[in-house]
Amino acid sequence: MPTDTFYGEVLTDHNLHPGNKRRIEGPTAELEGVNPSCGDDIVLQLKVGEDGRIEDAAFSGSGCAVSQASADMMCDLVIGRSREDAARLAGIFMRMIKGEAGPDEIRDLGEAGCLEDVSRMPARVKCAVLGWRTLIRALGGE
Ligand code: ZN
Repeated sequence: MPTDTFYGEVLTDHNLHPGNKRRIEGPTAELEGVNPSCGDDIVLQLKVGEDGRIEDAAFSGSGCAVSQASADMMCDLVIGRSREDAARLAGIFMRMIKGEAGPDEIRDLGEAGCLEDVSRMPARVKCAVLGWRTLIRALGGE
């Protein structure tokens, strides 16, 4: 894994300091996401307020650097947003990993946009999308 790139730096930082790897008090949704091909196994927790805003998001569990960093960045991104906005961003992320998202869309993903490189690493794709796929399910998507 490269360490001299933005991608490598961000991944390393989120692995050393995963600010959202914790448990939420009284979550409104809790869902497990598993990627058997790598052994990644996370539990995503969301606390959605009555106004439909995501007040808090966190994950726990274990997995490789890509799955953990991706889930951490995802939580950073969706905290404080409406469910609709979070679902929209997750949709952009899924398209980005397939190489189908435009630069303007990727900019909306903030730090998570650095995972665009993963679209060229087929073995890591399932790791990168694990948190986001779990988020889409937790928000009532497919
Ligand atoms: Zn993995």
